[in-house]
Amino acid sequence: MELENALSKYEPVIGIEIHAQLKTNSKAYCGDKNEFGASPNTLTSPISLGHPGTLPKFNKEIINHAVKLGLALDCDITREMHFDRKNYFYADLPKGYQITQDKKPICKNGKILIRLENNKTKDIELTRIHMEEDSGKSIHDLDPFNTLIDLNRAGVPLLEIVTEPVIKTSHEAYQYVSEIRKLLRYLDICDGNMEEGSMRCDVNISIMPIGKDQFGDRVEIKNLNSIRNVQRSIDYEIVRQAKLLDENKKVNVETRTFDAPSGKTSAMRKKEAAHDYRYFPEPDLNPIKIEEKLLMDIQSSMPNLPNDLFEKFTKIYGLSNYDALVIIEQKEIAFYYESILEFTKNYKGATNWLMGSIKSYLNLKAIEITNFPINAESIGMLINMIDDGIITHSLANQKLFPEMLKFPQENPNSIAEKNQWINQQNENNLEVLVREILDKNPKEEERLKNGEKKLTGFFIGKIMKASNGTADPKKINQLLNQLIN
Ligand code: ADP
Ligand code: MG
Repeated sequence: MELENALSKYEPVIGIEIHAQLKTNSKAYCGDKNEFGASPNTLTSPISLGHPGTLPKFNKEIINHAVKLGLALDCDITREMHFDRKNYFYADLPKGYQITQDKKPICKNGKILIRLENNKTKDIELTRIHMEEDSGKSIHDLDPFNTLIDLNRAGVPLLEIVTEPVIKTSHEAYQYVSEIRKLLRYLDICDGNMEEGSMRCDVNISIMPIGKDQFGDRVEIKNLNSIRNVQRSIDYEIVRQAKLLDENKKVNVETRTFDAPSGKTSAMRKKEAAHDYRYFPEPDLNPIKIEEKLLMDIQSSMPNLPNDLFEKFTKIYGLSNYDALVIIEQKEIAFYYESILEFTKNYKGATNWLMGSIKSYLNLKAIEITNFPINAESIGMLINMIDDGIITHSLANQKLFPEMLKFPQENPNSIAEKNQWINQQNENNLEVLVREILDKNPKEEERLKNGEKKLTGFFIGKIMKASNGTADPKKINQLLNQLIN
């Protein structure tokens, strides 16, 4: 209610900075391994430790990743650029400066489409994406007296993605961060695991009275470690800032931190002015030039992106927006779905199997689709067997699918044959069977004829049993109707 009240008077203005740690073999400016989870300070060298006299060497893998992301986000790619030093002192930054990009980021402008309620969409415009390096990690909660420093992360390559101040609600922010994470994963350039810190968000937020267009003073909420917390921290800030303005107080321009258990933000430090960093061109690295050929090569090797798949799944496969989004959410699921469709044209059937029995199995075993034992071809065959009336849906679901899980290498058709689950009943001998069962139960047949509908179930049950469960209940129903009329 407080939030609703705040939103009835003030309009939030939100801009988000996302730091994405890149998946590369080595760090940004030296050969140290880029890896998560190694013992502290084992992935370091004189370069990442910032020893005097060492020289950085640029890891070109980063350019490919940055260009991929830039192209996927419709950015203008900068063709000639250099790195800059951003100077500050902190224990987890042994060099005393971060190598980053200031005036000439590798990508400018660009946008990403987000999906809102009622099938509405919105483009979130980006300001820039630049390349930089991560700092080490200060650990404050392992030792009661000391801060511990792990420099494994020092020099890990980052892309920083910055939006224009165009996000208006916490829900839009949630969708924005989700879409960026999905894209990073589709492009395979960052694993997007916010809990491990490989993707981190800073939220800038201010509010202004509705109807005004002069932005208010903003705060920056640092290092949010889940998408949910991005949303929660924004909602908290809107209310906090609205209260201040209601009381004619000022919002301090500052950096704040979010405490997940209490759902509150608190002040960390005053915002540094940019000139405090004394940016200047990095003298130890050569300027970078991106050749046309590289752009073309990267453009032509771009994988399918979530929004292209959405268009394809809804327009060509006829899936509902909901189904399409659920499947696209995880790249590996979307790719598995597409592989099934190489073997069957029943798009909806493939969706149902994937989101139904297959998803349940994955959840039960707590495994990913990449570890699912049955290949897409067998699932395609299974669907075709049902569509061709070779096996009933219920037998397929209750018997054949579990057996396929046990013997994933075997062809579903031969499993079904071996177990005599194949529907032996062609139209003619199913009719003979139905006739036979009706004849054996004359009283019930009479009652059915007299309109006692519940006897349909009685007969279907008997006939199914007589066919060893292989007959299609729908067909039996049709035949029953024909025969008694
Ligand atoms: P800094 O260098 O201090 O981080 P930037 O100009 O890079 O500042 O902006 C950081 C983010 O803050 C951007 O996403 C931008 O859209 C957003 N932003 C700028 N002004 C405001 C404002 N008044 N309210 C909310 N967000 C803002
Ligand atoms: Mg910033």
